[in-house]
Order: sequence, then C-alpha cells, then structure tokens
Amino acid sequence: MNLRPIYKVFILACSLMLSPLMAQHHCGTDEFYQEQLNLNPSLKVIENQYNEECKAQMNSVQSRASIYTIPVVFHVIHTNGPENISREQILDQLRVLNEDFNKKNANIANLRSAFTSRAADCQIAFELAKVDPNGNCTDGVNRIYSSAGVETSMTSEPVKQLIYWDKNKYLNIWVVSSIAPSGGGSGTVLGYAVFPWMNNRDGVVVRHDRVGSIGTAASTDGGRTLTHEVGHWLGLYHTFQDGCTGGDQCDDTPPVNGTFTNASCPANGNSCSNDSPDLPDMWENFMDYSDGKCMSAFTTNQRSRMHYFLGQTPRKNLVTSSNLTATGVVNSNVAPKGLFNADKRVVCAGDVVQFYDLSCKGGPTVWSWSLPGSSSPNSSQKDPKVIYQTPGTYKVSLTVQNNYGSNSYSQDAYITVLKANGDNQAQWEENFESSDPFSSGAFAHSSPAGSQFSYLST
Ligand code: ZN
Ligand code: CA
Repeated sequence: MNLRPIYKVFILACSLMLSPLMAQHHCGTDEFYQEQLNLNPSLKVIENQYNEECKAQMNSVQSRASIYTIPVVFHVIHTNGPENISREQILDQLRVLNEDFNKKNANIANLRSAFTSRAADCQIAFELAKVDPNGNCTDGVNRIYSSAGVETSMTSEPVKQLIYWDKNKYLNIWVVSSIAPSGGGSGTVLGYAVFPWMNNRDGVVVRHDRVGSIGTAASTDGGRTLTHEVGHWLGLYHTFQDGCTGGDQCDDTPPVNGTFTNASCPANGNSCSNDSPDLPDMWENFMDYSDGKCMSAFTTNQRSRMHYFLGQTPRKNLVTSSNLTATGVVNSNVAPKGLFNADKRVVCAGDVVQFYDLSCKGGPTVWSWSLPGSSSPNSSQKDPKVIYQTPGTYKVSLTVQNNYGSNSYSQDAYITVLKANGDNQAQWEENFESSDPFSSGAFAHSSPAGSQFSYLST
C-alpha cells in the first residue's frame, strides 16, 4: 500500500508492525480522526483554520504566570475483572501526567543535549474532579459495572453512550479492557483521543493496562500512553505526521519518517535529513511512537500549541476559575457537602477499615463520624482507621462542618463484618487432584455463563 497520498491529508495508519518479535500496538487517534473525517469532510476546513491561527500566534504564546488546571474524571468500565483498577493506579497515572506536563519527570535528565533547550514546562496540571455533573461529591473515579463497554470499539464508541460528562467541564477518560480499531481493522489499540476541533463525545479512551505504572499497568509503558493521548486531546499531532515533510505544526520537533521509527530509543537515529539544522530524531518526544521509557519531553512549540487550544472553545471553559469551583477542584465559601468511602466494605472480624473523607464544595474544619460497631464509634478525625470485632452489618455516617454550615451523609449497612479467619469452616472440599471429579460424575461445570463448580452426588 502506498501511504504517501494518504499522509498528505493527515491520515496516519498507525498499525505498522514494530518487528515480528514485538507486539503490534498503536495509538488510535489518527484512525479515529480519519473515520470522522470520512463522515464529515468539513472537519478538515476547521482543522486548517485552527492550524493557521495557532501558527500565527505560536511565538506570542509562551510561559505563563500560573499553570492551567484541568478537572478530570476517570470512568472505569468494568465487570469486576482486573479492568476495575484501583484508585492508587489512577492516582499514579495522575502523578505521571502532572510530572510530564510540568517537566518534573525524572527521566528528563536523559534528554540528549541537542534538545534540552527545546524541552518545555507545559504548565498544565490535572486534578480529579470532586463534584459530579449533578452537583454531588465524587472522588473523580466513576466506576460503571457494564459489559457493554469493557471491550469498546472506536467506530461505535459504546463507552461514550454509557457515560459522558460535559466536555466543557471535565476531561473524560474512559478506562476499558480493549479497544477494537476503526472499520473492523486488526491490531491492538492502546488508546485514542478526540482532537479539540471535533464534535464527538470528547475525551480519551485507554486500556486499563496502560493506566499508570502500578497495578495492572504494563511495566514498559510508565503511564506515557495517557501523556501522549492527552497531548492529542490538547491539539498535538504525532512528530511523524506527514513523515519527513513535517506536518505536526511545530517547527522545533525534528521530522520523523514514520510510525515506530524510534520504538526503542535508537541512539542517534536520524530518519529525515531535510531539517535545518539536521538533528537526530527526537524519540524523547511524548508524541513519537517510542517506548514510554524513552519519552521525556514536550517542546516549546508543543506547549504553545496546547496553550493555544486551551484558549479556544471548548477547552477554554475547563480551566476557568468558575469551572474549577463547579467541579470541586477548588473549594468555595460554602458549607461542605459530605461523602466518604472506605478501603474495603466486607471484612473479617478484627480487620482494620480505613475511611476517607470525600466531602466537597467547602473545606471542612470539623469532622464527626458515627461508626457504630467499630473501635471508635465516634471519631473526629478526617480519615479514621478503625477495627470491627463483631460480625454484622453497620451503618456509617459523617457530618462535615465549617464556618458556613454543616451537612451529613450516611449509608446504611455500609460495612459487613464476617467471622474471623478460622471461624468459617468449609463443609466439604475437593482438591481436583487425586482423581478426575468430572469423569466420576461428582461435579458438573455450568458453562459458559456464570461458570461454577456445583456438587452433584457422593
Ligand atoms: Zn498518537
Ligand atoms: Ca533530522
């Protein structure tokens, strides 16, 4: 297939093989965009208008006195499998985003000297939303139990039908198990984003094993899939856009000949020599297809481009102080609204339960917890840690207060305490090793739905 003419209209088929030994993987943003362009060719006109205006302003948009803050919601679409990733894994991803977009990532020290003067502190921060679209408190991690979106598709986008928060207020990030490429194509899509000038349900879709660097995250990625996708969401192209003819609209990123040219940080590889001065490929750039561990920098022009789009509709409302208040990222002078969660809700007698205050809107100065059945039935700590000794189900209540007033929040039967380990005796057991229990007729396997072993006869 001759890709040249296709490149000329900003299409990049990203699904080239790294090598026969390496897994095929790619970012789906360009494919997704091409599919939308096919449906609505006038998008190209809008894109070009933005690009022209951005180019004209490129040098006037530089560093700022204050950083932009963007409220984020992670919609975790799951069926109670490993894709239901922990809050810690999501916080680890936020750490990566905040480091990468503020030039605080440790591996910036590895950036080759040819590029150090081009690396930019992009001054963009990401914070979990604390108020949801209905005005209720949230911890910014919205867990949705549904099989509809666990294996999502770039064409039909079922996850965006399932749940979507206003793009003028939140960066939506959908966490899924897998993403089928556009148009029935093959290959593994790690994530894809919506460019700022598109009308689609907006945000980033990403596989759970590309979120952060802990939990289910792939060790080689280091959370850089989302750094890359959020770059697209803020208007950045790939550094290999248009190949050597240079189409990423950023003059300070050396042109790169194509996808996966720089997958494993190839020393001083130089795939295009038409740049002046002729620099090696900047595989450290977050918008290349190098491995996460190779990536360490955005450039000054990329910062300008992202800041330009943060000044345009629809992105510009996200970073306003009124939106930061509306989404709870910044508290205001009102009574706090209550919410809490716990690190676990079903425990054995004697186990410790850690509660977390998730109140929002106004910062509490006084916390009054009612924790019947626990070692501290009344606690004034912000995040109390208690022990439940007696089996049963227990209500939890929290009243939060500041100078403007107070509010209470409670949940009946929030904590379930079971007998301690050792007190629960199994009635029978089968180790499945001494003989084949299936051929003896002792057990049946009810598959495929609700698979389980069930006891038939002795
Ligand atoms: Zn990409
Ligand atoms: Ca070059």
